[in-house]
Amino acid sequence: MHLAIRGVSKTYPNGVRALRDVTLDIPSGMYGLLGPNGAGKSSLMRTLATLQEPDVGTVTLERPDGTRIDVLREKDRLRRTLGYLPQEFGVYPSVSAERLLDHFAVLEGFTEKGARRRVVEALLRQTNLWDVRKERLGGYSGGMRQRFGIAVALLGGPELIIVDEPTAGLDPAERVRFLNLLSEIGENSVVILSTHIVEDVAELCRRMAIIDRGQILLEAEPLEAIDALRGRVWRRVVAKHELPEVERRHRVIATKLLAGRTLVHVHADERPGDEFEPVEPDLEDVYFSVMAGHEGARAAAPELVAR
Ligand code: ADP
Repeated sequence: MHLAIRGVSKTYPNGVRALRDVTLDIPSGMYGLLGPNGAGKSSLMRTLATLQEPDVGTVTLERPDGTRIDVLREKDRLRRTLGYLPQEFGVYPSVSAERLLDHFAVLEGFTEKGARRRVVEALLRQTNLWDVRKERLGGYSGGMRQRFGIAVALLGGPELIIVDEPTAGLDPAERVRFLNLLSEIGENSVVILSTHIVEDVAELCRRMAIIDRGQILLEAEPLEAIDALRGRVWRRVVAKHELPEVERRHRVIATKLLAGRTLVHVHADERPGDEFEPVEPDLEDVYFSVMAGHEGARAAAPELVAR
């Protein structure tokens, strides 16, 4: 399975350029689309889910047997093999999870009762909702609702699964439970996770892209991108009044408050000064160095910065 996105651009009627010439190759397995709010993630996710059209560009789902779906032209064909969990997942509050999932299963084509019951039970167990299946959805927590959304998305064995910002608003325990569930979906479908949370991608995704202001800034394997930064990230704790001077003299990737002082991460090929100590980089350093648009980061790892 392979999703090929080529030259997709979108400008909304109000003039916002939400997607600028987006080209991505997304293989089977979990793929992370990481970017801040307003970056264009939902615009891209809605495009892939056939809910809106780009101004230009093509999207093709290539199957292992050689057949292809032209996502933008063959909408019905794509929808039959699409599982989509939008940012806001509306449910009927007075209906139980079991009844609503059964209803969606009918729509999905499971008309035979026995087969349908088996599918519904399997999904409710997989999403850990079996014990609360009789409860009304209105009483579910945010995390339970998101897991129910995944159960709906997985109905019918989709080949393309899109989850848009699924962990925003979940408490830490629910977030872990939800990510574990996603990690079990398997390798036979293309799963795209859009998020502004770096750890979501770090924990789950073998490949990723970083998007900002509609543009893909980096497409890479997280571990490779981290490797490329190794030996080039340094840190130092500074007092607040020293920060402007440090920012003037160094390529600051990120600043973080630490016990009332400021921890600064700097990108440099060599130790920038005695006060700095080396840092083992993580995906957050990758993300912030790309977002900061440092020429140094580009020069250091040109193969990782495609555009
Ligand atoms: P993200 O999901 O990364 O937060 P979006 O795709 O929702 O980003 O938004 C990208 C940009 O497009 C933002 O500036 C947003 O305000 C704008 N936008 C999104 N949807 C619409 C719309 N229907 N009409 C006009 N502007 C929109």
